[in-house]
Amino acid sequence: MRRTGGIKLSRVCYCIAALLAGHALLAGTSSAVPALPEINHLPLSAIMASVALAFGIAARFGSANRGLRRDLAHLTGAAKRIRSLDLQIDPDAFVLGELQECAKELSSLAEWVRAEHSRLNRDASHDPLTGLPNRRVLLDVLRRESAASKRETWPLSLIMVDLDHFKQLNDTHGHQTGDIVLKRAAQRLASLVRGSDVTARVGGEEFAIVLPRAELERAVEIAWQLRDALRCDPITIDQLRLQITASFGVAEAHACGAGGPDSLVRLADAALYRAKETGRDKVVAAERAEAEEGSQPDDEQVSEDAQNGLDLIKDLGVGADTMAVMGSTFSIMRLIPDKHRVACDTLQQVVATLGYDRVVLWIFEENTQKLIPLASLGHCEPSKPSQPCEPAEDLSAWFMRLRTSGDSFPERTVELLGPFASSRGESTSSLRVPLVAYGGLVGAIEVFDVPSDFRVSEQAHRILSAVCLIGAAALKVCNIFEVMERNWSQVVHRLHQTEAGETFRPTHPDRVSRLCIEVAESMGILDEQELSLIRTASLIHDIGNVGIPKRIRTRKGRLRPREWQLIREHCRIGAKIVGSSPDMGRLAQVILHHHERYDGRGYPDGLLGEEIPLESRILAVADAYDAMTSDRPHRGAMPHEEAIRRIQQASGTQFDPTVVEVFLRCVNRQRKGRLGFPILSTMRQS
Ligand code: GH3
Ligand code: MG
Ligand code: MG
Repeated sequence: MRRTGGIKLSRVCYCIAALLAGHALLAGTSSAVPALPEINHLPLSAIMASVALAFGIAARFGSANRGLRRDLAHLTGAAKRIRSLDLQIDPDAFVLGELQECAKELSSLAEWVRAEHSRLNRDASHDPLTGLPNRRVLLDVLRRESAASKRETWPLSLIMVDLDHFKQLNDTHGHQTGDIVLKRAAQRLASLVRGSDVTARVGGEEFAIVLPRAELERAVEIAWQLRDALRCDPITIDQLRLQITASFGVAEAHACGAGGPDSLVRLADAALYRAKETGRDKVVAAERAEAEEGSQPDDEQVSEDAQNGLDLIKDLGVGADTMAVMGSTFSIMRLIPDKHRVACDTLQQVVATLGYDRVVLWIFEENTQKLIPLASLGHCEPSKPSQPCEPAEDLSAWFMRLRTSGDSFPERTVELLGPFASSRGESTSSLRVPLVAYGGLVGAIEVFDVPSDFRVSEQAHRILSAVCLIGAAALKVCNIFEVMERNWSQVVHRLHQTEAGETFRPTHPDRVSRLCIEVAESMGILDEQELSLIRTASLIHDIGNVGIPKRIRTRKGRLRPREWQLIREHCRIGAKIVGSSPDMGRLAQVILHHHERYDGRGYPDGLLGEEIPLESRILAVADAYDAMTSDRPHRGAMPHEEAIRRIQQASGTQFDPTVVEVFLRCVNRQRKGRLGFPILSTMRQS
């Protein structure tokens, strides 16, 4: 029954190290690495941001970065040294010291990556001669501002500038002088506009200035000021005084009827052309674009609006950052070993240390005040019991005694209990090791079938202490991530609701989410990752609505076909938002297809039957039921019976009949019990 095995601490250490690194980054100094218990006091958002950063960097650059590899190897080496006991130091302090060292390294690596990143970004987006943003940036800014201006109906002006007879200046004074003039002219233009305006170099001697919230008249006035600033103050280079002039074209989105950023550029360009034609050194305002006036959104417009929807995400200000952080946090969370895997790893190490392979890891659940088995090895296979079993009476008593004793070093306590009669009639004992994290007792490991005269050697005791310390800390980290994951979905949803102006269904996603989980579990989906995918998808499936212009979202009465077409885009937009994070491909698929119909007549891709992801099929039913049975501004809630009748009627056409069948069972069970939907089984939530 004895087994040997290697210690695999690196992964667990890595979790903790990254958490520390994140915190160090947050504190802004790599030397201020906190002691582990402080993690508990960090605000959740801070943990989210920091962990996302630390893990994101580690995950992306980990394999490529030798420094990080060296540190992880160092850490693994440290674990091995603890095992071989060649260090006469306190294992706890040693492990924490190593982790802090690793955290510092990760932290400075993160700083380096951040600096490199912004340098690269700058190179790709700025004109090296004048230092101004380039054409690419200008177009990005215009697209973003154009979406905001449409949404908020505030003005958006654009000034196009072209230096006059610049070729001649080059020919007369040389290219080098021309370069200096370009630089000085750029500085002058940029320095005379507001900080919120964006001046870019968009061609050889052409510049553009985006002026958000500036009316046409105001923009024209500014353009005249710029024109004066150039012509009235000659540029001096050594002894040379050069009087330069420029021509200006100005357009404003609403006043000139620009349909989007491209048409705004076209209008300002046309005005600039007229300024050149009519003598240069002047400002000309664009005329109203007749062709575009009052036009309905055409097909191009629809896709432009969808694109604007995506830009709008960037435009949410804090939302954009939050979205990015949350996106990467979410995908990173999937890389982290789940609680069950951490528990199994810890148990394997206990088995390797003691040599007895029947072990169970119990976790103390605060709300029920009970010990719940999280993982087991040996005869208790499958290692993740599907039904929580009760701990032996004496284990609970022992555990509660430890909890209340206030023993400051319970982790040093390894107790041998028994002897008991084993299932085979032999006399055996069991051994219990408490799990302590951040000064609190969080659970225990129980080792069965140990001989009654078994004595834990000093060495084994030391190893067990280290293994249990790290295992317990990692489990705590997993808990933090669980909470984060729940919060992430809720924050995203709230953000989306606020932005989409949908304040009327505050609890809709929570209810839909619980319904979906209930149905999924009843259909035999028990994998935690899978359930987490469904939970998240159900919370944020409509996030793409933020990309639909407000005027359409809030329209009362019938939608025009083109508007309807745009509304349908919310599936693609949502999938694109979510899919922008690595590792979120499946979530994006579920969101993309949540409006497909079982008979293939849904959208966006008209998938048929089981081509539609199961999660989307579940979501479709739960979402429809909840929508029908909730109050809406324009109608009251439909009675449960009527909603059920409609769902049954649509079974096999709109909805997957298997899902409908399970769904009806779940809803009926819930209504009979009137207990509300049960929370997930305690084992998975603990
Ligand atoms: P117009 O008044 O009609 O605008 O006449 P222009 O000569 O300014 O316009 P044109 O487009 O004919 O010529 C632009 C000149 O700008 C040609 C090119 O040599 C010069 N140019 C473009 N990029 C640079 C640059 O980076 N440095 C310098 N020194 N000159 C440049
Ligand atoms: Mg030119
Ligand atoms: Mg020119």
